[in-house]
Amino acid sequence: MRIDRVRAMHVRAQWDYHEPVAEAHLARPAAIYPGLAGKVNWPVDPAGGPPYTIDRHFLLIDTDQGITGVCGALGDEDCAIIKRTFANLLVGEDPHAVERIWDKMYRHAIHGRKGAAMLALSKVDLALWDLKGKLLGAPVYQLLGGPTRSRIKAYASMLGYSVEPNKVIERTRHFAAQGFTAFKWFLPGVPHDGEAGIRRNLAIIRAAREAAGPAADLMFDAWSSWNVPFTQRMIELSAPYRPTWFEEPVLADLIPQYAELRRGARGVFISGGEHEYTRWGIKALLDAQAVHILQPDVTWAGGLSEMTKICALASAYAIPVIPHHGGWASTHLIASQAISTCPMQEWLFLAGRPDNVFYKHKLVPVDGHIHLPSAPGLSMDMADGLDLLEESVLAG
Ligand SMILES: [Mg+2]
Repeated sequence: MRIDRVRAMHVRAQWDYHEPVAEAHLARPAAIYPGLAGKVNWPVDPAGGPPYTIDRHFLLIDTDQGITGVCGALGDEDCAIIKRTFANLLVGEDPHAVERIWDKMYRHAIHGRKGAAMLALSKVDLALWDLKGKLLGAPVYQLLGGPTRSRIKAYASMLGYSVEPNKVIERTRHFAAQGFTAFKWFLPGVPHDGEAGIRRNLAIIRAAREAAGPAADLMFDAWSSWNVPFTQRMIELSAPYRPTWFEEPVLADLIPQYAELRRGARGVFISGGEHEYTRWGIKALLDAQAVHILQPDVTWAGGLSEMTKICALASAYAIPVIPHHGGWASTHLIASQAISTCPMQEWLFLAGRPDNVFYKHKLVPVDGHIHLPSAPGLSMDMADGLDLLEESVLAG
């Protein structure tokens, strides 16, 4: 059996969604430049709906036996890189040989170790795993050693929702009533704001704890926008509200600063790694003892082939991997790993919900948990009835 063609489908759909998509003012590292403050690439144009018209791409890898692997939803840049760099490498390969194809792509794209090319390579890897699952008639978590449980605890990731304390209380209670017991808020206060920024963040943390009750896990994302002293002050002053972790307190390249923060943190975890790639990037974080919790993204860091290696590495250091978002691909990874290695999944309302518009199998947490899919492959097949804008052959 051989891969004989690589295709992309560009599809469009209407997203009839009436919850907030951009209420919050996010901290971003580039916001130190006045022209870039407040600029966020939301998944949809907040002014464009509802209903919002959204478009995505799907990658399809065909075999000469008529079975196709699918990965979606991709952006324009992923598709352009796959066409330019990876598609021709796939044609003629045995579709079962995912490890061989991953290594071939990695060695070919020698400038692609981090960033956009690795994001695109990850999507190819996922389409190959979907294909292998379909060839063998099994959900991918089974091929990778799972299932380790029947459902995965999800945490509610509140990107896009207002961080005004009264709104934080209202929304935390709303999602707690739906069964969520863990919540992540994105804090707006940054070092440039001085003491006022710290006080603003603390008011949000206090509100979240008040609404969630004493038993819930509360996580707070700094989006790479703090520095060491600011983070140390946040850790010290937030202690009465018992945050579970502070995420990406400083820029991803500042590994010694992560290690300094981790060494000094008492009763709170330092997390990071969503902007790190491959086993080698993650190993550098582990060797430096930079984080308590790793958060690489299955759809960015090298796909499932690489994330299983990352999980093996992390487990040797007893560092949990709680992947950044990642949709169905994260579900399959987590379901294949020990609960101590991958304890829970991020459910990012603002990225998961629009993607669902394009999927036949919807990923919807029930009672704060994600139930494992049973379909062969990764459950990333396209929904029926999407508006097909263009189908293109990338290779073959
Ligand atoms: Mg994050």
